Amino acid sequence: MTATATRVLVLNSGSSSVKYQLLDMRDGARLAVGLVERIGEETSRLAHTPLATGGDKRETEGPIADHQAALKAVAAELSADGLGLDSPELAAIGHRVVHGGLKFTEPTVIDDAVLQEIERLVPVAPLHNPANLTGIRTARALRPDLPQVAVFDTAFHTTMPEYAARYAIDVETADAHRIRRYGFHGTSHAYVSRKTAELLGKDPSEVNVIVLHLGNGASASAVAGGRCVDTSMGLTPLEGLVMGTRSGDIDPAVTFHLKRVAGMSEDDVDVLLNKKSGLVGLCGDNDMREIRRRIDEGDERARLAFDIYIHRLKKYIGAYTAVLGRVDAVAFTAGVGENAAPVRAAALAGLEEMGLAVDADRNAVRSGEPRLISPEYARVAAAVVPTDEELEIAQQTYALVSA
Ligand code: AMP
Repeated sequence: MTATATRVLVLNSGSSSVKYQLLDMRDGARLAVGLVERIGEETSRLAHTPLATGGDKRETEGPIADHQAALKAVAAELSADGLGLDSPELAAIGHRVVHGGLKFTEPTVIDDAVLQEIERLVPVAPLHNPANLTGIRTARALRPDLPQVAVFDTAFHTTMPEYAARYAIDVETADAHRIRRYGFHGTSHAYVSRKTAELLGKDPSEVNVIVLHLGNGASASAVAGGRCVDTSMGLTPLEGLVMGTRSGDIDPAVTFHLKRVAGMSEDDVDVLLNKKSGLVGLCGDNDMREIRRRIDEGDERARLAFDIYIHRLKKYIGAYTAVLGRVDAVAFTAGVGENAAPVRAAALAGLEEMGLAVDADRNAVRSGEPRLISPEYARVAAAVVPTDEELEIAQQTYALVSA
């Protein structure tokens, strides 16, 4: 890496999409952001915004056959603005990798052995790790000489004590199949818990935070002195909170009951719980804006879906208060957590005995900055702390390659 290499490209490769951001690590500025969607279809779409030049968003539609073609198209867009992958200013590429198992507790420079290990984890992350691997392999082929770093969604949660991570099932079976709670959204929980400490004017080691990452996927975590001690997602991102399309916690017997009485296959149940449950299963909508609009019109199904969502959130706030013993802050983040004031108000309503309260005026403020929504007198701070997973991935990547 040359002394002038201060840029990091962050890639988040999904099964049919690639999201990317190019950042300058001198100040964290975003030079370009974009998204390739519907890879492998006739109607693929690339949207690229060259923030460095102040240029307009450029959108192109047309078939993009695979991830290799997608990354080549992204590289061409970046080159058009003088930000190409061949630039000496590019220090590294940081890849979001969903599942790092127990082995990857830190961001890791990718070599063949690391790739093999990520591959070995495919059985526990069949939807995500293959797409992440494709992105890494393609990027390595384009710039074999450039350091590439894997930043794992699970890494922040590897500090969970064994009694929080282990399911109460037969130990031999669990170990043979690596069944345990891994947790996800780790880069977000790490970033938001640190930013929350900053908002309180304290060092992360001094504060206990409950982070509520409420997006289309949703998870809660209990963070004690900067270390995760419990989180709501488990072996897969299905466990825990009610999500946009996922059920979250459910009696596992429901799965074999459905197989026995409804003649559903494993795949049917998988699709039901991951894609047709949560808010969408309960009321047909997974966008909280639409659900709130329907509630305002008196829609009972939307109301019930909202109440179920809030009830689950409250249970986790209560559980993590007990796990942490002392809570300094509850932080809301991601699409719903950052934008839906009624969700924040409802989740904390009635928790005054636990030191939690919401100030209606503060809660109504719309801003991209971290902010308190609790009144001065509240013993436990309530905060909105916008997440920034790309910046976190870029910072972790840059720290590793410039060390
Ligand atoms: P994420 O996965 O973090 O991008 O969050 C996406 C979700 O955030 C959407 O499905 C919406 O439910 C929610 N969301 C985004 N903007 C708003 C808003 N202004 N008000 C309420 N919910 C929102």
